[in-house]
Amino acid sequence: MKYTIASVISLLLCVATAVLWVRSYTRYDEVRLGVERNETAEVFLIASDNGGVLLFTDSKPLADTFKPGMTWTTRPINRAAKMPATFWARHNFDALNWNYTWMIARGVEVPHWLVVILTAVLPAVFVWRSWRRPSGQARCSTCDYNLTGNTSGVCPECGTPIPQKSEAAA
Ligand SMILES: [Zn+2]
Repeated sequence: MKYTIASVISLLLCVATAVLWVRSYTRYDEVRLGVERNETAEVFLIASDNGGVLLFTDSKPLADTFKPGMTWTTRPINRAAKMPATFWARHNFDALNWNYTWMIARGVEVPHWLVVILTAVLPAVFVWRSWRRPSGQARCSTCDYNLTGNTSGVCPECGTPIPQKSEAAA
């Protein structure tokens, strides 16, 4: 059941990222969370544009201009923006780590396609496994060991007790 929920969540993330991917070539989207902590302004953001997803966080001394809370920003992408310098950055693989006296920032960027592939793995395995296994065939829910003809009531492979619902139904 946990596996089913995880697969559904993963599938939703996959579809959402795919939609964002298509959108990212015309729109810049950003969700930003500002938190005030010990005279420090911390920002966490997720941004999407030009085929890349950026996770970014920075912290600065608290200023009057700081806006706490969550905000969503969307705007047309800047087509005049400078081409990234490196091969990897041009393909949306990037990382930054700034340690200045006035700001500490960390960021990582990955392409949408990578997120789509990674989040598709769990749902794909789920579909493949349920398609491969004929319904009614007894298999251990923990280790997938074939339990056909088992009489001991526990899985011989991993020791998981076998629910005896088929006998109750018969
Ligand atoms: Zn087992």
